[in-house]
Amino acid sequence: MGQTASGGLVVALQKTMESQGGVWIGTKLDESISDHFLKEYDGGKFDRHALHLQPSEYNDYYLGYANSVLWPLFHGRTDLLDVAHGQLAAYASVNQKLAEATRHLITDDDTIWIHDYHFIPLASELRKLGVQNPIGFFLHTPFPTTSDVHALTHKRNLLDWLSAYDLVGLQTQRDVSAMIEVCRTVFGGQMLSDGRIRCQGRDIWPASFPIGIEAENFRRTAEAQKPLAPQIASGQRLLIGVDRLDYSKGLPHKFRGFQRYLEDRASSDSPLTLLQIASPTREDVEAYQEVRRELEQITGQVNGRFAELGYIPIQYIHRSVPRDYLAGLYRRADIALVTPLIDGMNLVAKEYIAAQDPADPGVLILSEAAGAAEQLKVGALMVNPFDPGSVSEAIQSAASMSREERIERHQSQWNEIARHDVHWWTGTFLNSLKRNAAQRIEHDSI
Ligand code: ADP
Repeated sequence: MGQTASGGLVVALQKTMESQGGVWIGTKLDESISDHFLKEYDGGKFDRHALHLQPSEYNDYYLGYANSVLWPLFHGRTDLLDVAHGQLAAYASVNQKLAEATRHLITDDDTIWIHDYHFIPLASELRKLGVQNPIGFFLHTPFPTTSDVHALTHKRNLLDWLSAYDLVGLQTQRDVSAMIEVCRTVFGGQMLSDGRIRCQGRDIWPASFPIGIEAENFRRTAEAQKPLAPQIASGQRLLIGVDRLDYSKGLPHKFRGFQRYLEDRASSDSPLTLLQIASPTREDVEAYQEVRRELEQITGQVNGRFAELGYIPIQYIHRSVPRDYLAGLYRRADIALVTPLIDGMNLVAKEYIAAQDPADPGVLILSEAAGAAEQLKVGALMVNPFDPGSVSEAIQSAASMSREERIERHQSQWNEIARHDVHWWTGTFLNSLKRNAAQRIEHDSI
């Protein structure tokens, strides 16, 4: 994986594969060859294979159905749905091809773990090919609400696809509740006493497993970073934001909240600088180009209005940075501004906590709509990202918080992320998956 990964799924899976071993399978765009299934990487502990996609498949399956239908739908943005003819067929066909290509790699004692919205139909395709192994699914995004699911043309597919799994892992209790509600109202489902939902004679088995980070390791990485001066002046108080440049992250809202803080703050306080690192993502999709333009415009407006000699309010960096450098930036920052409009989990919030000096930690400002809120709300300053006033007040509280209070808040957050780290996530998911699959196999053999 030569380059820096900037996406929660890839970062977490890299750690999982390093510790568990196995085969990591995905897809990639290839303009020259297609329908090839090749080993891309032989990493000792694990291998990676990829199904090569033709440009038209990549457009219709990846940019199209996955990222212009499912992603906006799962993030409550049905206004951005771009449903084009043929894309669902491409999505189904890529999953079918991947199942066929994968089939020959599967041995009897393998456990199969499928990740995210790009591959929801994969278990059902594998079952059609006779695969009886335990197959689990983890959705890294939020699960959609009933009203959003109604925007899907072929809703019934969701039931067929999800019921092929022995376990459907979701990030939060909020998502489990959303799934129960969708199954109940859209598919006429009923909860069984063991947690399964029975819908039209099929079972979906959801549970929440909040994804974690390699907390201890990330803490050590941050601790080992050299001070970042002279890049950041020693007295400069810093707010940090780190996000993919995705509309779900609410970056324009964040900048407007920061603008409100600049308007509201007492003139005697030295102002904070917002360092926003936003990695490029899905730049071929129109909605992403739109949010990038908007962000550049707001940055210009805020800096034009509030900059002074030696002070730039917003430093906006539109690229990925290496993880160890990122860890050092988190540690240097007085406050983290994590304000997605909706988010499955948000690992940046957890990385920020892990990177802090426990004796003099920074403050996490966290959106109520991030999945991470279920675990971190006790220690964080919670905000409504849609309300610039709420963001401004939180920045002011964080900037003036006593060291004693910061330590107390940080301690409770650290305990949470250290206990529920990425190894806990992998272990508990796989144990539950194997248990459920054993129950299915026993039931089928009666
Ligand atoms: P998502 O999976 O939606 O991108 P998360 O916050 O869960 O959101 O995960 C993002 C991951 O990508 C984190 O591990 C974060 O450190 C990393 N990341 C995000 N932006 C950058 C960036 N500009 N440079 C380096 N890493 C980044």
